[in-house]
Amino acid sequence: MEKIMMMASGFAMKDVSSSIPHAELLGVLVTIISVSIALAYHYSKTKPKRCIDPEKFQEFKLVKKTAVSHNVARFRFALPTAKSVLGLPVGNHIVCRGKDAEGQEVTKPYTPITLDSDFGHFELVVKMYPHGRMSHHFREMHEGDSLAVKGPTGRFVYKPGQVRAFGMIAGGSGITPMFQVTRAILENPKDKTNLSLIYANTTFQDILLKEELDGFARKFPSRFNVYYVLSQPPAEGWNGGVGRITKDMIRSYCPAPASDIQVLRCGPSGMNKAMAAHLNELGYTADMQFKF
Ligand SMILES: Cc1cc2nc3c(=O)[nH]c(=O)nc-3n(C[C@H](O)[C@H](O)[C@H](O)COP(=O)(O)OP(=O)(O)OC[C@H]3O[C@@H](n4cnc5c(N)ncnc54)[C@H](O)[C@@H]3O)c2cc1C
Repeated sequence: MEKIMMMASGFAMKDVSSSIPHAELLGVLVTIISVSIALAYHYSKTKPKRCIDPEKFQEFKLVKKTAVSHNVARFRFALPTAKSVLGLPVGNHIVCRGKDAEGQEVTKPYTPITLDSDFGHFELVVKMYPHGRMSHHFREMHEGDSLAVKGPTGRFVYKPGQVRAFGMIAGGSGITPMFQVTRAILENPKDKTNLSLIYANTTFQDILLKEELDGFARKFPSRFNVYYVLSQPPAEGWNGGVGRITKDMIRSYCPAPASDIQVLRCGPSGMNKAMAAHLNELGYTADMQFKF
């Protein structure tokens, strides 16, 4: 009986002593939950808000227009606050609406060269063709004017590590999606994807974002390389490719066909068709190719 009494009192002692840690644990849990709720609230209040809508055009003010060449300009548009981000997944683009020379409405896709790590503004590099309908709208835009934009849109969304290496083939203003993906990869220290770009233009002056691309090649020599191709190269001192992009250039500069690589391309329709034919002949399957 005495033994039973001792055992019972032992249990009672254990119950009391274990109830104290339970109470403490509860207190800690309540604190953690309260802090989490407060942090989540704070995060939702301070998290940069997406500024574009896929269904509805919104107006963004042009705050800076900088001529890059005779037919290319860089356009900086303000977002609603200094902390706002556009809200564009890497690899997607926006749709811009304007008026052509006849006053008819026109909409065309453009890829910002800025990312959601850039706050308060977004930038477009636009090539304006002499008879281009949307080109007319951009040519006529002045600082202080607004541009109607909706998005995001597009079939390509980059996720870090989705491939081991990208080959990229761009022509003229087709560089902008490549530039966006390249920036996102190289500015993410955790992303180890390799990039090889072949970039075709007519003349040396037509090469867009050259300073930035060369900067990437200098900073990341083992991960990013760019091979420029010109159909009308300078008379002297040109050591890039000449003419059109050939199968041999793709073989030399792009990653070889493999299940963990992809070749992205963007350019005028004639070039896109020619590149698709080259890539098919070199053994790149449909899964290994993507056209923006
Ligand atoms: C996903 C995507 C992203 C894009 N991003 C950008 C971007 O960031 N910056 C940019 O400048 N453009 C970009 N473009 C191209 C852009 O959408 C327009 O096609 C381009 O601005 C011409 O439109 P436009 O209405 O002025 O010309 P249009 O009225 O369609 O064409 C008129 C004439 O212009 C010439 N032309 C038009 N497009 C080309 C071309 N690509 N190559 C050669 N000649 C041409 C042709 O002579 C054509 O007959 C992108 C296209 C796509 C599909």
